[in-house]
Amino acid sequence: MKNKQNLKGLTLPQLEEFFLKIGEKRFRAEQVFLWIYNKKAKSFDEMTNLSKATREKLKELAYIENLEIAQVQVDSESNTHKFLFQLIDGKKIESVLLFGNKRKTVCISSQVGCAVDCGFCATAQMGLFRNLTVSEIIDQLLTIERDFEVKVTNIVFMGMGEPFHNYENVIESAKLMSDEKVTGISQRKITISTSGVLPKIRRFTDENHNFKLAISLNATDNETRTKLMPLNAKWPIEALLEESKFYSEKNRNKITLEYVLLEGINDSIEDAKRFSKWCAEYNCKANVIPYNPTNSDYKRPSKEKIERFMAALGDKYASVTLRDTGGKGIKAACGQLAVEQD
Ligand code: SAH
Ligand code: SF4
Repeated sequence: MKNKQNLKGLTLPQLEEFFLKIGEKRFRAEQVFLWIYNKKAKSFDEMTNLSKATREKLKELAYIENLEIAQVQVDSESNTHKFLFQLIDGKKIESVLLFGNKRKTVCISSQVGCAVDCGFCATAQMGLFRNLTVSEIIDQLLTIERDFEVKVTNIVFMGMGEPFHNYENVIESAKLMSDEKVTGISQRKITISTSGVLPKIRRFTDENHNFKLAISLNATDNETRTKLMPLNAKWPIEALLEESKFYSEKNRNKITLEYVLLEGINDSIEDAKRFSKWCAEYNCKANVIPYNPTNSDYKRPSKEKIERFMAALGDKYASVTLRDTGGKGIKAACGQLAVEQD
């Protein structure tokens, strides 16, 4: 396998280059591109419009890497599916399929583990093993669509890992996903969530992508945010919000500020009011996520406290949503299943 080229993860121009290099016609590249990404072929044998000789040649020089489904859990109440995938080096990652009213959303992982080390997050406990390749990122979507016969409508990079610590592969795979020959999912239906890696937010702004950007704010004062998310010591709230503003002004695209609600930590009325004020000032939407308990000391606030926070937040200045992570019964918070498996 060592010298063979994995064709999954390659863009159309990269595939064309490969086919020319091995002495094949350029148009073969588009045929294989469609087989891999549109028809979700897992082997060259499925590619029936290629001659047997071409398929044999491809088998000698290339391969198609496939994720292996190690486990699937289904939450009967919400129909949320949680997938544990095994990578070729034996490492495990997870993805979640959520069913909304009209939406079918896949939550994608970008790294094995994460280096950001947020105290409330299950993925953080793994530390960082490595970045996922473009092939491993896009295959989460392809495998779910193929094996579960579902047409995904929305994608969120909110699984394991910090997408902006694997910037190139995340952007490349998101571009592939939104290629109309692949899924036809528009860039606006793909959301990338970051813990706030400032230089990469600037790069994202400069590159003028149409993907949506979400930022995990999670606290309204620097002391609390640094305790929850150590990267806040380097890039504090004010700098983060200014950077967000710069992005939304330049790209005319609203940012969503995510806020994991933790009992007694960031769920006070004062927090809600500050948060609401910033959403108005920085032209952001708010997305409140009640904590999905993991094996940390943090707790999810009671229903009454969640309601009180939402009421104080109000929706006068900003579009506010409460995103209760579907599938509490199957531990659908980021990284929970992979951590328990190790
Ligand atoms: N690393 C990126 C994306 C993955 S985490 C980021 O931090 O933005 C996606 C979202 O899930 C983040 O907003 C994070 O704060 C939140 N999250 C992590 N663990 C959670 C948990 N146990 N319950 C609820 N939300 C959680
Ligand atoms: Fe990494 Fe996001 Fe988890 Fe923080 S919340 S440790 S950035 S995956």
